[in-house]
Parts: sequence; C-alpha cells; structure tokens
Amino acid sequence: MALSGDFPISSCDCQDCRTACTISPGWFMPDQIAPLADSLGLSVEDLFRKKLAISVTRMPDGKEIHGVMPHKFRDGKKPGSVWTLMELAQPGRCVFFDRGKCTIYKFRPYECARMIHKKTKESVRLRRQIVPHWTGPALKPYAKLTGKKLMGAKGSK
Ligand code: SF4
Repeated sequence: MALSGDFPISSCDCQDCRTACTISPGWFMPDQIAPLADSLGLSVEDLFRKKLAISVTRMPDGKEIHGVMPHKFRDGKKPGSVWTLMELAQPGRCVFFDRGKCTIYKFRPYECARMIHKKTKESVRLRRQIVPHWTGPALKPYAKLTGKKLMGAKGSK
C-alpha cells in the first residue's frame, strides 16, 4: 500500500469514532481486501458478496469515483451492492461493528484507521489520498461481481 504518512494511524476509541461506525464506514485501499478475506477464511469474492459494498465519492471536477467499503445496514441494500451518493448520505451501521467494537480492527479500512474527528477539510483530504488507488484495474473484479460499470480514478470498468 503506497502511503504518504500524512495521516497517522489512530487507535482512538472515543464516542466520535464509534458514532462514525454507525453512520458511514471508511474506504479500504485495494490491497487490504485479500488479507481481510484471508483473516476471515473467505475468498475475496465471498467476502465482497457477504460483507463489503461499492461506495462512491464526488471529485472536484464532478466525476464520481468508486471504491470499496464495508457494507452498512440500510433497508433495501444488500452486501455486495453499489451505493449511490444519495444512499450513502443515509446513516447505517457498519457490518463489522458489533457491541461497540470493530470486529476487524487489525484489518480495518485505511480510512477508518485514520480517524479525523469532525475535521471536515481533513476528511476530504484523506479521501482524496485514497481515491487514486481505486483505478479501473483495481475495480475490475468488483465490476464483474456487481455486473455494474464502476468508475475508477483512471478510467472505467
Ligand atoms: S470497519 Fe471497523 S472501524 Fe471501520 S466503520 Fe466498520 S466497525 Fe468501524
């Protein structure tokens, strides 16, 4: 995983962090998915179908770019699906959040591990650091699994 080191890993367990887990899970980096699947004894495909989802973010030029996040519980949404910006705006508990704890703590998404604590500008900067890693090739397996066209930072799949 190519990291700038700009955002230190946080092991914070405050109420803000727990609240974030019930509203909007963070994005993974592409190379975090296989180790998480291994740790859960699942194939990447099964992990995606059972526990993950496709998120989307809007860039300053108006383009929408996709990336992978944990599934969050919302009526009518199943794991392994593609979320719209409007759907993402609705809060939902992360599928890995159980009794106030992250159940994949060691393998939690890059974005979750760098809690920004309500600093909106910094949150945007953190997301912008992750987005370029979700290229067309990185999204290709998930485009196949969802049967949808996904927009990567460098082209669509
Ligand atoms: S993956 Fe863990 S830290 Fe991230 S939102 Fe889910 S429960 Fe919270």
